[in-house]
Amino acid sequence: MPGPYTVQVTSTANPAPSIVERLSAPHRGPVPFSVEFFPPRDAEAEARLWRAVRTFERLGPAFVSMTYGAGGSTRDRTARIAGELATQTTLLPVAHLTAVNHSVDELRALVGSYADNGITNILALRGDPPGDPLGEWVRHPEGVEYAEDLVRLIADLGDFHVGVASFPEGHHRAPDLEHDTRTLVNKLRAGAEYSITQMFFDVEDFLRLRDRVNRADPEQGAKPLIPGIMPITSLATVRRMAELSGSVIPADVQERFAAAAGDGAEENREAVRAVGIDFATEMAARLVTEGVPCLHFCSLNFAKATSEVLERLGVDTRSALPAASR
Ligand SMILES: Cc1cc2nc3c(=O)[nH]c(=O)nc-3n(C[C@H](O)[C@H](O)[C@H](O)COP(=O)(O)OP(=O)(O)OC[C@H]3O[C@@H](n4cnc5c(N)ncnc54)[C@H](O)[C@@H]3O)c2cc1C
Repeated sequence: MPGPYTVQVTSTANPAPSIVERLSAPHRGPVPFSVEFFPPRDAEAEARLWRAVRTFERLGPAFVSMTYGAGGSTRDRTARIAGELATQTTLLPVAHLTAVNHSVDELRALVGSYADNGITNILALRGDPPGDPLGEWVRHPEGVEYAEDLVRLIADLGDFHVGVASFPEGHHRAPDLEHDTRTLVNKLRAGAEYSITQMFFDVEDFLRLRDRVNRADPEQGAKPLIPGIMPITSLATVRRMAELSGSVIPADVQERFAAAAGDGAEENREAVRAVGIDFATEMAARLVTEGVPCLHFCSLNFAKATSEVLERLGVDTRSALPAASR
């Protein structure tokens, strides 16, 4: 039930489906998939994003998501590009929103600008401190403390569909896994309809999270828990991503990639990429057999690596893609 501050959602005549609805619609391949993009910094990067968008469009993802830069640094670009995805493509966009550096009034206005751009699916996140993501979290004096509060704020504003983040290894600030599970369950109880996980390197971590949530609250455990997968194409990138998120790369996985990278001053990019595609495919295939509702690929705004993984999973990319973009 919307609260006192309602936001006019522009597309009420023909509202966009929710992610949960989209996940039960027909899809190619063994399981629905989705793709994460980030807002590009300049015109060249934006042209590259749009090439990836058009390629993915032909592959039929259940949804695509657009991240929100640290500290609100991409607020206009996130809303604009997610809006363009909503109005100029056949894709269903989810716009991320974080609480960092925003007052409650600003958050309400941002949700309003998403609605103005035709966005009704929002991923509600607390965000990390800008600069050093592992540094001290300081709440905006008139802002919210936790993602759970942001879920409620968005739900109170109108007919939005909200998702949240989850962490197979536990969030790096959570004192233990039980606390981390409680956080996720509380976000779902607050109205989140699904969660998308941080990228991870061990499928067992994902399965244990799923079990913990199911044990803690079977009703919330029935909501989609969507694994985040990154097809690794460069060792340097993945090390940086793992550092920023506090993820641990298991020793055997590190060894596999290090062997491919070689001992030279420069890593052997082609060999690392080949291992990265193999590794992502193995993880994705196992997750499919474990009955996940969707595979969420962190694309870094490139389509090729994810398309290769999808093809190996049995998605017919050949009929969907022109030869040049494969
Ligand atoms: C799929 C995905 C997408 C992301 N997209 C973005 C993005 O676009 N932009 C961006 O800047 N960051 C993004 N992030 C990173 C995310 O913002 C950070 O990981 C952040 O540190 C945690 O956000 P959260 O929403 O999980 O926070 P919360 O759920 O609020 O949790 C933050 C910490 O507070 C603790 N906590 C929560 N509630 C309580 C409570 N009631 N009492 C005590 N402790 C509590 C939790 O255990 C956790 O340690 C993304 C992460 C994921 C997994």
